[in-house]
This record gives sequence, structure tokens and C-alpha cells, in this order.
Amino acid sequence: MKTENPSISEIINELAEDRSKYFNSIAPPVIQASNFSFDTVDQFRDAILHEESAYIYSRGNNPTVDILRKKLAALDHAEDALVLNSGASAIYASVVANVKSGDHIVSVKKPYGWAQHLFEKILPRFGVETTYVDGTDVKNFEQALRPTTKIIYLESPNSWTFELQDLKAVAELAKANQVLTICDNSYCSSLYQRPIDYGIDISFQSATKYLNGHSDVVAGVISGTKEMINKIFSNELMTAGLGISPFHAWLMIRGLRTLPIRLKKSSKNARMIVSFLKTFLEVESISYPFDPLFPQYDLAKEQMEDTGGLFSFVLKAEKVEVIEKFCQGLQHFLMAVSWGGYESLVMPAIVGMEKGTINMDNPEHRRIRMYVGIEEPEYLIEDLKRGLEAMKKR
Ligand SMILES: *Cc1c(COP(=O)(O)O)cnc(C)c1O
Repeated sequence: MKTENPSISEIINELAEDRSKYFNSIAPPVIQASNFSFDTVDQFRDAILHEESAYIYSRGNNPTVDILRKKLAALDHAEDALVLNSGASAIYASVVANVKSGDHIVSVKKPYGWAQHLFEKILPRFGVETTYVDGTDVKNFEQALRPTTKIIYLESPNSWTFELQDLKAVAELAKANQVLTICDNSYCSSLYQRPIDYGIDISFQSATKYLNGHSDVVAGVISGTKEMINKIFSNELMTAGLGISPFHAWLMIRGLRTLPIRLKKSSKNARMIVSFLKTFLEVESISYPFDPLFPQYDLAKEQMEDTGGLFSFVLKAEKVEVIEKFCQGLQHFLMAVSWGGYESLVMPAIVGMEKGTINMDNPEHRRIRMYVGIEEPEYLIEDLKRGLEAMKKR
């Protein structure tokens, strides 16, 4: 690092890279090695006794992973970070590292599905209980606190309906009660929201989404204090083997180079598509945090720099077939989970339900999530017109 507060470009292009060590190559090498050797017994011992700061074995540290790790910590304004083999690993490690039997967690309601699974299926087996609250009002967190509460778990915004939590207010409440805060920051990524700046203790993301950005790597990142990161490294990461592989880290370093430009284009495209969809009678409502009609618009504008390309909307449809025709009528928007890559995607809520349980009177069953990628706007608009036309066909 050359300066105290490196710019985004400095972080992405220079931080943690020492090109003189690898023939001045512009791109860093993949150190595709499982283990590292030592010249003396003393050096070997010293490394073994301080594995958190040594290259011994790539389940722990690896030089390529290290470059990425330092960049991601800096982007998050954190002291340190860990790069894991999935966003789900990031959820698992950051939560499990901070609870024991008898503890209680207060979580924002309907967090990411696998966080729910952890809270409802796995942690109860070890005597850890979770209470869900509506996170749009900080009072709900306060009311749910117990003497045994150890974690307040946040996801702001969430990735379906985009409700926010006031990160600063929740962090203050938590600090006053000696409760740790963890926030899923996948929607905004490190460029559009930095939970740590608001006093949140641990910020994590699915790096599969924007950070890697090319629909070809599953990864996660956890950012926090050096002390917290060392604790997670020495326990959850080392015992469960949750680290990312050197090659995947290398792909992510490559992906990171274009993060700012990708995010900017995706956000711009999303705003354009949201305005376009608003002109259609078939669209009942749109959930997009930077839409002035969004219930938490003011908080979104205050807390987030921008949105990226994800939003959802409710279609007017009396039959399931109408939703199917819309989604299947699209030729460029691909039907898929996830987001954050080049390609625009569509995912209707009904794919998560048994067919017999779908009820078209419930607007949530008519919700469709869209990820707007970084294609040319005309290409996307033309496709949406095609989908909306297909919907009306018998
Ligand atoms: C995708 C996602 C995750 C999980 O990340 P993986 O990389 O898929 O394991 C967690 N939270 C949110 C909000 C996500 O979108």
C-alpha cells in the first residue's frame, strides 16, 4: 500500500501486488501449490506456531489468495478479510464463530435461504436459538434482545424485496448491549455500501455475485477486525477447510479489475429497465431501493451509494401460465438463480414453490426478480417487449 487511504484504483491495481517478485508481470501469478517448504527447522517451527501469518499449507494461507484478501479488506474499509469457497461458508463461519450452546441470535426476517437453514435446522441442534424480526424498524431488534443474545444478523437490502435496516442505528443499539453485528452485504458489494463504516462488526458478501462478476466462481468474503478474522481463520476456516482455492482467487483478482465499471453499467441499465417496466399496465408494482416510491427510499439514498442491477416486480396475472409465458418469452434474459455477471437474468418466485401451493391472489407468488447485467440497453428493452407480448398470447 502506497498511501494511507488508497483509492479504489490503487486497491484494485496495486495493493498487495509486488510485480518485481514475479518478473514484472502485470497480472499476478497463480501460486497453485498445496504446501510450502522451509530452509531451517526454526523457520518451520515459527511458521507452524503462527499459521495465521505464514505460508505452510494452502488450506490456510496462499500467496495468491493473500493478494485478493488484502484488496477485499481495503475495499470494505476493514482491518482484515478472509476469502472463502462460498458466500454460504461466509455465513456459516461468521455466525458459528460467535455463538455457543445457550446463546440467542436476533435476525432480520427472511434472510438468505441458507442463513435461514443454519438458524432453523443446524444451530438448534447445538442449543442456539434465533428470533426473526421486521428489520425496517430498529425498535424491533431492541425488543427481541435477551440477556443471552450474542448476534444481530442483518441483510441490507435483502435480495428479493430489498427491505433495508438502518445500519448505523442497529450498530449503536448492538454496541450498547454488547451484541455482535453481522451484515450480509451481497446486494451492494463493497463499492456501494460499507457496513463497517456504520459500526457493523462483520460484513460479508457472496463474492460469487459482483466481486467475481463473471458467473464462473462461487466464493465468499468476510471482513472485520484483525482479531475477529484471526479467530475465524484459526477455528472455522482451518477445521472445516472453508478457504478459496488459489485458481479461484486468481480469477477473482481478474474480475475485481473491472468491478467499478461493471457495477456502474449494471446500475445504469437497471434504472433504465425499471423506468421502462413502469410504463406497462401489466406491472403491478416494482421493488427497487432507488425508486422514489420505494418505502425506504430516503434510507437507501443515505446508506447506499448505488444499487447494482437487482430488483423485483409483481406482474398482474390471473394464471400461472401468464408468468411462465413472460419468462419463457424472453430470449436474452436467461432464467437462472444468482446474479452479478455479464448476463441479465430472470427468476420468478414460483420456481421455489410446489405447483399446487401457488396462489395467484398472493402478489408475492407473482413476484419476478430481475438482474440487469451489462449488455447494451436496446438488446434488453427489445427482449422485455418480447416477453410482455408473449404474456398476452393465448
Ligand atoms: C448468493 C447469496 C449468498 C450465498 O452465496 P454463495 O456464494 O451462493 O454461497 C448469500 N447471501 C445473498 C444475499 C446471496 O445472494
